[in-house]
Amino acid sequence: MKSSLFSKTLISQTPGSKTLFAKVMGSVLCFWLTACASTSVLATQKSGKPSVTVPGSFADGNKGLAQRLNARQTPTKAKNVILFIGDGMGVSTVTAMRIHAGQKNGMTGEEYVLTMDRFPHLALAKTYNTDQQVSDSAGTASAIMTGQKTRAGVLNISPAVKKGDCANALKAQVPTLFEQASQNGLSTGIVSTARITHATPAAAYAKSPHRNWESDKDLPESARNAGCRSIAAQMQNAITSGTLDLVLGGGNEKFPKEFMDTLPGTKLISGADLSATDRKTPLPIVGLFSQDHMAYMASKKPNNTEPSLSEMTRKAVSRLENTQGGYVLMVEGGRIDHGHHAGKAELALEEGIEFDRAVKAAVDLIDPDETLIIVTADHSHVFTIAGYPTRGNPILGTVIGNDKTGTPKTKPTLANDGLPYTTLGYQNGIGATKGERSPMLNSGQVIIQKAAIPTDYETHAGEDVPVFAIGPSSDLVSGVMEQNTIYHIMRHALGF
Ligand SMILES: [Zn+2]
Repeated sequence: MKSSLFSKTLISQTPGSKTLFAKVMGSVLCFWLTACASTSVLATQKSGKPSVTVPGSFADGNKGLAQRLNARQTPTKAKNVILFIGDGMGVSTVTAMRIHAGQKNGMTGEEYVLTMDRFPHLALAKTYNTDQQVSDSAGTASAIMTGQKTRAGVLNISPAVKKGDCANALKAQVPTLFEQASQNGLSTGIVSTARITHATPAAAYAKSPHRNWESDKDLPESARNAGCRSIAAQMQNAITSGTLDLVLGGGNEKFPKEFMDTLPGTKLISGADLSATDRKTPLPIVGLFSQDHMAYMASKKPNNTEPSLSEMTRKAVSRLENTQGGYVLMVEGGRIDHGHHAGKAELALEEGIEFDRAVKAAVDLIDPDETLIIVTADHSHVFTIAGYPTRGNPILGTVIGNDKTGTPKTKPTLANDGLPYTTLGYQNGIGATKGERSPMLNSGQVIIQKAAIPTDYETHAGEDVPVFAIGPSSDLVSGVMEQNTIYHIMRHALGF
């Protein structure tokens, strides 16, 4: 039975699917129905008539309480764990994703509800590394994978060892959740839109004092002589030794040419190959669909055959659901982070929306009484939603505010220098301009959001990130917690 928690927590509706909603929800009326009626929400607002059905009303707030009362009962033992990491998906990114997704659906946007928004349990995670106030993906993914924090740039090695110190790192490797899952008879899998040897997915299977030692070519000779192995070589070993059962992502350039030929199990190189797999396709399954990171959703060419994150997730979950002993799966939305570093919010937000689709793909396939799903970010970005734009103002555009009576203006709000500014902005990055500010900088089709400090790349940010959870033991995800506590909750839920 997969209905109980779903109906308790209202997560199974699709935007626009009123019929499904009505079926699943029965008598539980919900703000979501109003949110689905996008055009009427918009029309009601524009005509200026007050409406009790606009999301955000007193009654809708009260329904939020009802959902929470219903979600209090949670089973404790998980058969499976799915960990979603939106790389760089801080709170402001989630909010902007939600607005952008809603606006793409013809809504004002702010009232839109992502699948992750429907998860009943939530915490804030503190993301600092042992040696950095603002963290990197290797240290944070290690914290989530091993239950203890470490240095930035280091994968599953004790913080006592300095970054890049191979000899000492070999003596200070830390056990991971994936290893423990494998030892306990569970299957394991990773899915990512980044190179599969990139920091976050690498934390699932590799131990390295330097995140950049991705391929044999990237490994310095001194490290090789001291006994260290590249991240790619460690992945090959994890697959052949049976501790890693499913790998879908990008970055085949980091592997030797004969890698796919010598691999046991099922090899996939295109989206068509992936489509041809089913619940019985023999494990291990390895699909590396691009040379480098996979293409951005926002700039994917029509002839691109790479599968999307949601397609990969759907295949991974449906295959792993067909295993006996349970499974642990990590799914990374790897390019949310890259879009932000480039100062191009649209790239990041489109990746984020696809990431949320992947969450929904998993939710639709699992039994919520036996699968714990955690959705979190490894770290945030210096990304803000600023000014006082009117309701429904295009989230990627410039700020257009309201007049004194609360009626939308027709022209952009101007800053002290007489120029408009984007709602979304960055504290640093390539969007910063010296002297007079041009209204909008364009690079191809993608707008570069404004930034304050000129740097080559926009950077990570140090504030806490959200942790959404549903399923067995998800009620343990609460309060403000250290990021490494996520590991302990997953391990506790699995009963190791
Ligand atoms: Zn980053």
